[in-house]
Amino acid sequence: MKIGILCIGDELLKGAVVNTNLSYMGQKLLELGLVPELSLEVPDRPGDVVRGLEFAMRCADFIITSGGLGPTADDLTKPSIAEYLGYPLELCNEAAEAIKARWTTLRNAHGWGQNAQHSLPFHFLNQAYVPKGCRVLMNRFGTAPGIYVATKEGDRFPGKKIVMLPGPPSELHPMFDDQVLPIVRENMDGKIFSRLFHISGVPESKVEESMQPVIAAFPELSVAYCAAPEFVKLFLSAPDSGILESASGRVRAIFADSLLSDGSRTVAEEVVRLLARAGHKLATAESCTGGMIASLITEIPGASEIYLGSVVPYANEVKTGALGVREATLRTAGAVSADCAAEMLDGVCGKLGAECGISVTGIAGPGGGTPEKPVGLVYIGVRYLDRVRIMENRFRGSREQIRARTAAVALNTLRRFILGLD
Ligand code: ATP
Repeated sequence: MKIGILCIGDELLKGAVVNTNLSYMGQKLLELGLVPELSLEVPDRPGDVVRGLEFAMRCADFIITSGGLGPTADDLTKPSIAEYLGYPLELCNEAAEAIKARWTTLRNAHGWGQNAQHSLPFHFLNQAYVPKGCRVLMNRFGTAPGIYVATKEGDRFPGKKIVMLPGPPSELHPMFDDQVLPIVRENMDGKIFSRLFHISGVPESKVEESMQPVIAAFPELSVAYCAAPEFVKLFLSAPDSGILESASGRVRAIFADSLLSDGSRTVAEEVVRLLARAGHKLATAESCTGGMIASLITEIPGASEIYLGSVVPYANEVKTGALGVREATLRTAGAVSADCAAEMLDGVCGKLGAECGISVTGIAGPGGGTPEKPVGLVYIGVRYLDRVRIMENRFRGSREQIRARTAAVALNTLRRFILGLD
């Protein structure tokens, strides 16, 4: 099955909105071993929507559109596609009822009462008109329903499947997961078995190199990689569960303790889970990451069980005043030094009463580097019970990349300490 994605909206082309719907859908499809043939972004104008659809249908047979389904005048995806395909619009009662119910909830939440000026705007109900013969995809988080149309013999492009979804990510994500992925699976040529691994602390090039013997051993296996600062995602898919199991066994043997456990989607999640199981508390002192590690940890539900808090000692006075870093250390070794990282670690664990800690201090750039202490020089301290490590790192990349890599290395080092791997 060839998939095409068509994202509709002037704001995407102006760069005002990042096309996160594409990355969301791309990642979810990859988990099924599918990579779209193409992705297009077009303005809200009907002619452009149709031109984009036509182009996508020439390259793909399953098209997913995002955006332009709402109640406003520039939301023209549905009427333009329906007209192009020659399908008249008709009222879907279930969608109409859902829209009315959602409007009532909204009105009550705002305390608007029954006031005539707050009765359902007539154009809201336009959203309940759908192409004849389509399947309606209900939207629990917004008013615009999604639409699934399969073109028929005699149509201009027979045998095509078109799914239209609303643009807001908060609506698209759950609809994609709950309603579109099952349709995608229904339409897949054969059954596909897939598995996702998260490999932490190994560069993508090394992952690819290590996978070569596995790829050679299983010609029917599809392998895809996706590198992020904290890990490389490795997707395996195969037409047979036996092949997938054997290949997965090889992956586990190769990457062993670099693999996050099944069910952990981030290193922070794994750290939270491991610390909760061990019953230990974590504190962080983040200078150059400015709270990024704290943010990654507190994104995880249940983090309060293990996380005491963070100090962001950006200024030297805070390093000394809040964490007890010695003036002499700052004077002789400097704020970006192994000694400072060690004293920050001691300070934050001591002040907050934590058995585990992370401290980071470095030069994220783009300015501030010197020949002795260049941009990218970062000291990371990690404590787990009686084990302490202070690491000197020389990261490359932009300010954002250096900060993200710092957070990734710090968390992965703690993960390995907790597991007794280092
Ligand atoms: P509604 O008009 O009811 O909000 P819609 O389906 O008409 O829904 P759009 O008007 O196209 O959607 O987009 C609504 C908002 O959703 C946009 O302002 C933008 O913030 C977000 N959005 C749209 N498309 C994308 C996309 N591809 N990626 C991320 N966000 C998007």
